[in-house]
Amino acid sequence: MLLPTPIQNLIDALSRLPGIGPKTASRLTFYLLRAPDHFSLDLADALQNLNSGTAFCRTCFNITEADRDECPICASPDRDRTYLCIVEDPLDVLALERTGGYRGRYHVLHGTLSPIDGVGPEDLRIRELLERLQVEQIHEIILATNPSLEGDATAMYLRQRLKPLGIHVTRLARGLPVGGDLEYADQNTLLRALSGRQEMD
Ligand SMILES: [Zn+2]
Repeated sequence: MLLPTPIQNLIDALSRLPGIGPKTASRLTFYLLRAPDHFSLDLADALQNLNSGTAFCRTCFNITEADRDECPICASPDRDRTYLCIVEDPLDVLALERTGGYRGRYHVLHGTLSPIDGVGPEDLRIRELLERLQVEQIHEIILATNPSLEGDATAMYLRQRLKPLGIHVTRLARGLPVGGDLEYADQNTLLRALSGRQEMD
């Protein structure tokens, strides 16, 4: 082994991150090695608190701080509780919040249906969604899954499940790049998709 074990260990750990190959991982590792001590310590601290300091909102399953029961959106009295926007993951909440065009609340599925990867309805927060709908007075559900194959399939599946409940169900308008990801859409495109949302039948 050419490199001391602690260095190799960090390179290996960083290489497992999405979008980071062995080359970038090595560059980051040597950057940290030469950086002032507090830099690595701050990073280690942030990593350690990442899981222990966060939790899922018990209502919408967005990520929130560990000492809170509900995320700030669910807890806010200013949000319209008759609108529910269904998204794939917490970054989509962030993307929609950035548009400033939505005043309802959310429900985070944590993924999409994907039979190929063995992801079925029971692996997403769908049961929790149906439970919510029994106690909350929802006027409209906006299906804001990504405009991808899996996102569309998930929206279709939810439409079928929600149909018998007699709730108004809409889907974000087309115009978002197909196969794209909500979190990378620019604010105007997302705002247009939101305001042009269409009834799903
Ligand atoms: Zn919440």
